[in-house]
Amino acid sequence: MGLFLKGCDWVVTQNPDRDVLRNSSVSIDDSGIIRDMGITQGSRNDEVIDCRGKVLIPGLINTHTHLSMTLFRGYADDLELQQWLEKRIWPLEKRLTGEMCYYGALLGTMEMTRTGTTCFVDMYFHMEDVARATEEAGLRGILSYGMIDPSTQEGKERERKNSLKLLQQVRAMKSPRISFAFGPHSPYTCSEETLLWCRKEAEKENVLVNIHIAETRGEQARFERDKKSREVDYLDKIGFLNDRVLAAHSVWLTKSEVQLYGKRGVRVAHCPVSNMKLAGGSVAPLPEMWEAGVRVGLGTDGPASNNSLDMFDTMKFCALAHKAHRWDPSAASAQRVLDMATIDGARAIGKEKEIGSIEKDKRADLVLVDLKEPNFMPIHGKETVISDLVYSASGYNVDTTIVDGKVLMKDRKYLRLDPAKIEEGVNASVRRLMH
Ligand SMILES: [Zn+2]
Repeated sequence: MGLFLKGCDWVVTQNPDRDVLRNSSVSIDDSGIIRDMGITQGSRNDEVIDCRGKVLIPGLINTHTHLSMTLFRGYADDLELQQWLEKRIWPLEKRLTGEMCYYGALLGTMEMTRTGTTCFVDMYFHMEDVARATEEAGLRGILSYGMIDPSTQEGKERERKNSLKLLQQVRAMKSPRISFAFGPHSPYTCSEETLLWCRKEAEKENVLVNIHIAETRGEQARFERDKKSREVDYLDKIGFLNDRVLAAHSVWLTKSEVQLYGKRGVRVAHCPVSNMKLAGGSVAPLPEMWEAGVRVGLGTDGPASNNSLDMFDTMKFCALAHKAHRWDPSAASAQRVLDMATIDGARAIGKEKEIGSIEKDKRADLVLVDLKEPNFMPIHGKETVISDLVYSASGYNVDTTIVDGKVLMKDRKYLRLDPAKIEEGVNASVRRLMH
């Protein structure tokens, strides 16, 4: 059975012309592909969703998160990154079990479904349990096991085995929505040997390498002290940087390093909220990245350093951070920021042929936003729909979420997830974790 989204007040296509359609419908075939749009009729057997009073947008893409960290939400705030990690987060992470990560990830998928995110990139531990949660929720995910090198060779081998094991598990799931990326945590927690191993394996398996680069000023300074080189210089010197690298953060880059990113084809997951909250010390050089042709998506980062997975929040913060930082209200315009959360996000993760815009023959990852809320009144015309979405909307205006043509939430009711079961599992996990 196909799906017919009937009479949307607006359709924000995010197609190459950035068309915004008025009073339009979208029909989706039973394999989850957008069949037709505009003035169109559904097929006789289609399920029909009445979209009057709603705006249809492409599902949002969160290019960097750590879902299971929902369990730590609000647990350790107002600390800078290194203290936050070493004193509060890493000790707790040692106690995590697969079951806890499963419930943490389920809570994350519920929050994303609720707030209109349909695709995400994750890095953490117990990733087979995160994969299970993603499959149950029906979302699209790229999953990596976060590799942190222990001091022993045996430990390093174990990290590699864990990565390859996740790759096999993901492939065995045969889910069209779930894929794998290698996940060396960062250049300061992984050896040269591990970084180059990831590069080589990623080439062989045709997947991305998901890594944190140049997140804070302190990290860059310590790296220069220890390695006598800046992070990006070092990564390029060892031959790590190429177009498979998805670099989260990348705040502390010089102009020439940004150009190097462009030349090597490095992709970026920009996480403005987390960068501000953990006081990394600056704002990523976004206009320079655009100028150098770098593909930049938006990410929330983990829910312990944001503290939400709401991409509408992140869009607004992104626009405001760059305007404030540059003294320029035209920096990071509403349209550019929406691009980052949709089609540019898809480019950053190599999925722009499948998702990121509402166009014929693309996968139907779609979100309906309810306009009958005070923060959406009035709408002056099609030019302002985009700014309303970026500056005024909240994820909690979303009322329907669709992935691959399957409805995951309709009229704010979850069709696949069981909120009571998730709440119970999360509370039990937190009790065991914190006792
Ligand atoms: Zn991160």
